[in-house]
Amino acid sequence: MAGTAVGQRHAMRGIKRVALVGGTHGNELSGVHLVRSLLRQPSFQDFKSLEIDCLLANDLAIEVCRRFVDRDLNRCFSRSTLHSDAADSYEMHRAQEINARIGPRFSAEASDLCIDLHNTTSNFGCGIIITDTSSPDLHWKLQLCDYLRCRVPNVHILLDCLGDCSEEPYLPLTAKNDLTFEVGPQAHGTLVSEVFWNQRRLVFGALDFLERFNRQQLSDEERSEKTLEVFIQTGAVHYPTRSDGSLRASIAAELQGKDFQALHLGDPVFQDLESGEMILWDEPECYPCFINEAAYLSSGIAFQKTMRCQLTIPELRSDGSLCNIELPSVD
Ligand SMILES: [Zn+2]
Repeated sequence: MAGTAVGQRHAMRGIKRVALVGGTHGNELSGVHLVRSLLRQPSFQDFKSLEIDCLLANDLAIEVCRRFVDRDLNRCFSRSTLHSDAADSYEMHRAQEINARIGPRFSAEASDLCIDLHNTTSNFGCGIIITDTSSPDLHWKLQLCDYLRCRVPNVHILLDCLGDCSEEPYLPLTAKNDLTFEVGPQAHGTLVSEVFWNQRRLVFGALDFLERFNRQQLSDEERSEKTLEVFIQTGAVHYPTRSDGSLRASIAAELQGKDFQALHLGDPVFQDLESGEMILWDEPECYPCFINEAAYLSSGIAFQKTMRCQLTIPELRSDGSLCNIELPSVD
């Protein structure tokens, strides 16, 4: 789709109501334990301009330490799903409750921001995923990403939808603005200290940015124009399969763990499970991520392709005026 025009301005509203969600996937444990610890002992005394609502999303799945019970909760929030009457599963029922609490999606009453906490088995580092890139609010969200990039190691910023996202089904879209903190590698059902603490750094860094923005305390340097590396999702790559649908190959050793590194024409991608033969990349250069994500295997997805680009993020002015960000076209 075509890039959006620069120059339309609106003002960044004060960000007040923030939903912080863990356990959208019940076996992604750093978000579960971070939200639990904040429910036990809220540590928000430095964020007086914010109303922070901490929430565990999928209680039943957390109890049994599974991604979901009946269906993936993080696929239940599209416009059409929310408006369907088919609340026939635990997760569909829960989606309605969460939408009422954080949203309703698309309404003026919705929370200003939802931060959804996820883990991946891939070598993702500290991922920040933005799905709604369609409004001038992308401007401050990308300034927030840069703020976090300066404070947390190994940050990668992923834009996973260009244009209309109303049929995207993800939980954090119930608020006016979405952020997903996707941190890895961490096997599902386990807790890795570094991953937990990096996710905590992302959360508190984001709250710090918002508090300082609301109080007009960001420095000139922090608000200045900058260039930011982002990755734009362009499609999924599936595992090779046999005629009966079974897996024919694994991720090549050369690709394993190389999330966000360039994959060139001719590089090994898969290795045949019987012959050992390498299957080489035969498409244009891309930057893979979610390589060998465990939850994607049942859908046959080996990784997601992205393109890397440098975006110019205009100064975040103290009057809060925002610009649309020029995004490249993705065919
Ligand atoms: Zn997840």
